[in-house]
Amino acid sequence: MFEDLGSCQHIRQVLNSKARENVLITYKQAIKIALLVNKSNNFRLLKDNSSFSADKLIELKLNALKCSNCKLCNFNNNLICLQCPNIGCQINNHGYNHYKLNQHVFAIDSENGLIYCFKCNTYINDKALNDIRNEVRPESSLELPESDDTSDHYDTPEETSIRGLKGFVNFGSTCFISSILQTLIHNPMLKREFFNSDEHYFNCDVSECITCSIDKIFTEFFTSSNNDSFGMTNLLINSWYKNKSLTGYEEQDAHEFWQYLLNEFHKDHMRLKSDMGENDVFGHTYEDCDCITHKHFAGELESLIMCSDCDNTTRTIDPIMDLSLELTNLPDHSTVYDCLNLFTKEETLENYKCQFCNKNSKPKKSLKINKMSSVLSIQLKRFKHNVNSFIKNDIPIRNPLYLNLSDYLSQDSNEGSTNQFYELFALVVHIGSVNTGHYVVLIKTENNQWLKFDDSIITLVPQQEIESINAYLLFYMVHNI
Ligand SMILES: [Zn+2]
Ligand SMILES: [Zn+2]
Ligand SMILES: [Zn+2]
Ligand SMILES: [Zn+2]
Ligand SMILES: [Zn+2]
Ligand SMILES: [Zn+2]
Repeated sequence: MFEDLGSCQHIRQVLNSKARENVLITYKQAIKIALLVNKSNNFRLLKDNSSFSADKLIELKLNALKCSNCKLCNFNNNLICLQCPNIGCQINNHGYNHYKLNQHVFAIDSENGLIYCFKCNTYINDKALNDIRNEVRPESSLELPESDDTSDHYDTPEETSIRGLKGFVNFGSTCFISSILQTLIHNPMLKREFFNSDEHYFNCDVSECITCSIDKIFTEFFTSSNNDSFGMTNLLINSWYKNKSLTGYEEQDAHEFWQYLLNEFHKDHMRLKSDMGENDVFGHTYEDCDCITHKHFAGELESLIMCSDCDNTTRTIDPIMDLSLELTNLPDHSTVYDCLNLFTKEETLENYKCQFCNKNSKPKKSLKINKMSSVLSIQLKRFKHNVNSFIKNDIPIRNPLYLNLSDYLSQDSNEGSTNQFYELFALVVHIGSVNTGHYVVLIKTENNQWLKFDDSIITLVPQQEIESINAYLLFYMVHNI
């Protein structure tokens, strides 16, 4: 049946990518769930000799097939997304809306088990899919196939796991890695990039790709049905250590790992673009790079040096990924604002020759933020290199839950549309001394609760405690008023 239906370029592309296996497994699961139950066999015997009532099975199936939006369960007429756990009804258009919102192109029609391609606007077929369908629901026999399904095949994802409340297993001093991963997973803009868009994953065929391994972590985080903590991919850990051994020193720093990931995202993006035949990608500047890193993290600093002899101003713009703020010479009871004041404070340049008049007028130099992106990352420089070790500065700094940057913006950006208000959503905290330290991360969830992830242990933290937590890294996202 349906053999005459054609394949389409979109599904072919997916089935030729390394996502193939995952897609086929998901497809088989979906077909099994949508398969009708033969009520005349009131009980079915499972492999372990226990029995399972048909009513119970129907109940589980009905539950698993409820529309994620309106909870409507039209047993034979819902669309099961192939790329995430979403179920969309057809009656209220929630299946189509899901495609519109998330660009998830393929859905399985629960009635006939066929895949619908939203880009082609038609049902499609493919040999591999056809084989699976024939195996699961043979049309010749009226008898239902013997099934070894147990109830756990039909679980819908738990609410909590959908919100991503999972900790990581610590594979021995990898807490700096898991802390950073939590800040990525709970960033709604990155969730959109990784979880709601498979563009990179479908097109990339490099087996040791960091972007793909982060993509997998996102998928596992938001789709797996249990709330157990889970491990990171070995690839991620191995490539980091390989990278570290190349640079030659041992300290495991969360900020360095964060920079490493951002750098890899950009490199993977460039590689894919040039593989896909785009010319001259490496000639692009950071301003027009649309990789995850540059789209969401890149900002600019403006430095102004005014010569008092000839009144000329030298203006320099430098790209930044985050703000690294010094913690020395701060007043008591400092906040992040004090660090920003210090950072942007005018300084006198003693050895500076003006490029216009060639004189040294000991000009003043000032630093301002010229452009900020949707994520503002701040590193409080708690670790200082001292001969051949690091020392840690534990000075308490208060973290405002909302940050107003208007005092620190350049004239250009103040007139432009650069955002001024940022909302704190993640803090990475380093506990203990430099060598025996441990990282934990605090995250603000979508329903405004603060959670502390200490490896695989998750606890609730009252919001009023957040401002006084002594953080190492702060992650703010733009707050649209
Ligand atoms: Zn619906
Ligand atoms: Zn989906
Ligand atoms: Zn198509
Ligand atoms: Zn990749
Ligand atoms: Zn880039
Ligand atoms: Zn001058």
